[in-house]
Amino acid sequence: MGLLSLGTPLDWHESRKHNEHVRKNGIIQLINIFKQHSESRTDDKFLWGDEVEYMLVDVNPNAKTARLSIDKDYILNDLNDPKKSLHKSEENNISFHPEYGRFMLEGTPASPYDGTCLKDYAYVEQNMILRRKVSESELPAHIKPLTLTAFPRMGCPNFTSPPAQPIGPASQSLFLPDEIINRHVRFPTLTANIRKRRGAKVAINLPMYPDINTKLIDDSIPKDRDLFLSDKEPWLGASKPGHVYMDSMGFGMGSSCLQITMQAKDINEARYLYDSLAPITPIMLSLSAASPIFKGYLVNQDVRWNVVSGAVDDRTFIERDVEPYTGYDLFGGMHVDKRQRLPNNTQYVNEFGDWCDLKTKDGKPIQKVPKSRYDSIDNYLNDHKYSTAYFKDEYNDIYAPLNEKVYHHLSKENPKLFDKYLANHFAHLFIRDPLVLFSERINQDNATENDHFENIQSTNWQTLRFKPPALYPEGTDLSKTPGWRVEFRPMEIQLTDFENAAYSCFLSLLSKAIIRFKPNFYIPISKIEKNMKLAHNVDSVLEEKFWFKSLDQWNLNHREFIGYDLSWFDRFLNKGNDELGFDEVYVNGYSLNGALVNGESEDDLAALNGSLNGNGHPNGFYRGRRRTIDAVNDIDDQGIDERYTVNEIINGNDKFPGLIRLIVKVIATDLLPTGSHHCENKELAKNLTRIKNYLVLISNRASGKIPTTAHWMREYVLNSPLYKRDSKVSEALNYALVEKTIDITDFKDKELLTAFFGETLTQYLTSN
Ligand code: ADP
Ligand code: MG
Ligand code: MG
Ligand code: MG
Ligand code: MG
Ligand code: MG
Repeated sequence: MGLLSLGTPLDWHESRKHNEHVRKNGIIQLINIFKQHSESRTDDKFLWGDEVEYMLVDVNPNAKTARLSIDKDYILNDLNDPKKSLHKSEENNISFHPEYGRFMLEGTPASPYDGTCLKDYAYVEQNMILRRKVSESELPAHIKPLTLTAFPRMGCPNFTSPPAQPIGPASQSLFLPDEIINRHVRFPTLTANIRKRRGAKVAINLPMYPDINTKLIDDSIPKDRDLFLSDKEPWLGASKPGHVYMDSMGFGMGSSCLQITMQAKDINEARYLYDSLAPITPIMLSLSAASPIFKGYLVNQDVRWNVVSGAVDDRTFIERDVEPYTGYDLFGGMHVDKRQRLPNNTQYVNEFGDWCDLKTKDGKPIQKVPKSRYDSIDNYLNDHKYSTAYFKDEYNDIYAPLNEKVYHHLSKENPKLFDKYLANHFAHLFIRDPLVLFSERINQDNATENDHFENIQSTNWQTLRFKPPALYPEGTDLSKTPGWRVEFRPMEIQLTDFENAAYSCFLSLLSKAIIRFKPNFYIPISKIEKNMKLAHNVDSVLEEKFWFKSLDQWNLNHREFIGYDLSWFDRFLNKGNDELGFDEVYVNGYSLNGALVNGESEDDLAALNGSLNGNGHPNGFYRGRRRTIDAVNDIDDQGIDERYTVNEIINGNDKFPGLIRLIVKVIATDLLPTGSHHCENKELAKNLTRIKNYLVLISNRASGKIPTTAHWMREYVLNSPLYKRDSKVSEALNYALVEKTIDITDFKDKELLTAFFGETLTQYLTSN
């Protein structure tokens, strides 16, 4: 959750006086970072790591309740205390961090994985299992660290253990007590400052899942509370009919996600990786969907993203370009009567009756800001080495306001370090105000510190984060410090360590394949934004088609990926046990480097294409591949050839490789140890089998063979005898659902696991 400076946090009205100071010095710090690292780092290793967020849930089988535990946050100290804890960071290679919620934990590997080593991919799950075990061992038996994306009844009466009342001044929420917020002063201050900057409480409205008995009104909103002025906001337009209304940061930042950070060899490679992953973000959001329930309601969407986005949306009414609630300021303190305002919000009538341009209190023109500081990315980075053959300026096609001063400072005064794309990127991040400032940290040494930069950087919560190295004192051995990294942030957390390891490895291996094969994935960024919306929809993984680079324009030689579907693993492993040597196995099929070995001709290729069209390839490599779901094809926009099902993007289609073949090939070519008798190596076989099963999970979710977590949860609720077909998830139903998720997490119930994972994976999981 970014930096945790100690000290006295400033209230918004104090803090805002230093906004310009933080930005100005933050940019100097950024320039110093670039001076130190842009040129000097040329060959950093492909290291990577995951972040898993847990919720501590107090499960009471007698009372049949499952509640968020808000008084066990001391375990973080225990977990991180080298003297006292079981966690033994060095030995176990696990590390725990605080998160927004007092009921939350974040766990990471203590030092990153080596992404050039197959063994390390297979080790990820073990590391995750250990994190869960160790945190469990620090907790009473009835409290489970669960990896739920959203707690189904967060914000309902009595959703915490021990109980707490929603009367806190930091959030002023009608539903969430301040006692759910991390005790560190940074977090309540962040909560309050977002509300104060915005000029109102945040307001999130999720469409209810309409069922036959659903009352299309959120009847959980208290009508008569008179504790804070903001209590009346839902009745002034903050709450929308037919929607579940949420009014506090905790609804979003109290959800859990899975993040992956990867280190590139240099800044150019990091920029190309960032760009290439941008179109992948909505696809992985859709594939990892795990949150169909909020505030005790089944909602008509499957993911958390827009909830978090709304939960930290600190933009004023005027920045959002909406009418303020009656009697509310457009922005910090200036009263503007909305009847006397031009419809385009550019002018207003002042107290003397004159039309004036809208300006902030300090006289600057007001900038409209289209998106929350938590949202999808707005600009590609286009490096000059790898992206340049693919990138077009028109791909950066959405309106992304800039901090002009910052843009000028970077691109005009430091053009060698910041080309226009980098300048653009940071100038866009720097339109935001710092949200929490500690009085002791206002003045910093820009030559050795970078907290002001990090302050702005780490409160721009986007689908991807371009992470520059930190600033180090002169003489530091930079090769031992983190370099240019890209963080992948859209994924929802999954119930089991197996799934979280699968999604993490998938993403890291995909990044490795991107760096290796240099595909062209660029599409206009506006299309990615459309995809983000599509990814929210119920069962989007099967029901929607997503914009993606035309499969014939990836700039890959598709032939080189023939044979690298999931059956590659079986061929590699089985043939390895043959009397035949490893090399000979491939004489009759495909060589490891992917080229057809013998008799390659146009006829062969035609036969192959025929087989991919469903006629059955003689070698059977594509047997079992699912055709694209026809119903989905039918709803395609006519004539648009760049929308694909997630299945096509992940598993390929009749002509093109799909992302999984890129991954299989990078494993086959870059991650296998050299030597001709690999398959006699039991450990290698085990590791490959594990990774194969990760890809099977992703592949099967993409094709619809098995459900997403969100789909499974929704079905569970809809089919429960406790469900009254009114979209509501009662306390009893919440308990029943949480119990089932625990059974899945702990691999307890084979029938349940089969419904969730399908037979093949269940077989694998329960026999290991
Ligand atoms: P944040 O919350 O700011 O994203 P964390 O420290 O919680 O940062 O997580 C960062 C992740 O990056 C962890 O999984 C960590 O293992 C990983 N990591 C650390 N160093 C490197 C590195 N040099 N390259 C890639 N990943 C790294
Ligand atoms: Mg986190
Ligand atoms: Mg973290
Ligand atoms: Mg973080
Ligand atoms: Mg979070
Ligand atoms: Mg992170």
